[in-house]
Amino acid sequence: MFDDLIKTLGSLNGRSVSVGIEADEKGYLDKQCPASNCEFLFKVNEDDWKNIFKDEAVWCPMCRKESPAKAWFTIEQAEHIKSEALTVLKGEINSALRSGAKKFNRNQPRNSFISMSMEVKGGMQRTYTLPAKAAEVMQLEIQCENCSSRFAVIGSAYFCPACGVNSVIRTFDDSLRKIRAKKDSEDAVRRALAESLGRDEAELTCRSLRETCLTDGATAFQKYCEGLYDTYGKPPFNAFQRIEDGSKLWREALGVGYEKWLSPSELEELKIQYQKRHLLAHQEGIVDERYVKNSGDASYKVGQRLVVSTADVEALLKLLEKLGQGLKVACGRA
Ligand SMILES: [Zn+2]
Ligand SMILES: [Zn+2]
Repeated sequence: MFDDLIKTLGSLNGRSVSVGIEADEKGYLDKQCPASNCEFLFKVNEDDWKNIFKDEAVWCPMCRKESPAKAWFTIEQAEHIKSEALTVLKGEINSALRSGAKKFNRNQPRNSFISMSMEVKGGMQRTYTLPAKAAEVMQLEIQCENCSSRFAVIGSAYFCPACGVNSVIRTFDDSLRKIRAKKDSEDAVRRALAESLGRDEAELTCRSLRETCLTDGATAFQKYCEGLYDTYGKPPFNAFQRIEDGSKLWREALGVGYEKWLSPSELEELKIQYQKRHLLAHQEGIVDERYVKNSGDASYKVGQRLVVSTADVEALLKLLEKLGQGLKVACGRA
């Protein structure tokens, strides 16, 4: 009576069920970092996934975790695949039970005093799978300068998922974008925090956010210069944290320093912003003799606390962008 079921169960051993995965309207597939502390969601171009990506290794654009290509299903896709496979297997077991019952009922002796029949309850199950739907389109589309694969992320990314290369140029652009976003969201952050934590906390947080913009900008530019300088040699430790030292290194490597891209007054402004960053990092923002002397900023007296304004952040972003662009062209990386 259960012959069909036993046969079906036997055939389930090692049986595979294929479940499709849909690309989004731009032709991108969802992927997710398998590292449990990251789980970064991103998308890859479907054609590039077939033609450029390698089976042995794919890298996370955020944390650079390396894993074989089959490890990058999103949690949502994995769950969908599991439930679809289960649906199909249940369907097969169900129909084996039904056909077993049918045979059993057919084989009942006629003209018997006792009549027995068997019924399998439960609706017919699906025997086909539905593909996993694609998540919403991601706005930031990136093409790797190294392997030309295309991928998409929300926010920013550091590494190419197909070749693992970190693009210094893209990282720098991303960092400046992030700083600008931080600056622009200040009012919204202040309003939200004032409501939940009170005005003092809100003001304190916003001021500290604004101050980190100077530090972030200087760090991003330092990393950018170190990356671009790679082909010219190894720069002294933290040399690109200082304007004059950095400019000198470029003058030796390219024949031109920062004066090529910034006017004397812009260069002065940049030095002031760098000195401010230095004070914030090492003196908790309290103006010292060194600051007054090095920055040439006459608006403060020794012992005062720096005030970083939105205009300071804007000035720094504008100058770093200009320098970054100039260096990129001069290094032949534009
Ligand atoms: Zn990751
Ligand atoms: Zn690449």
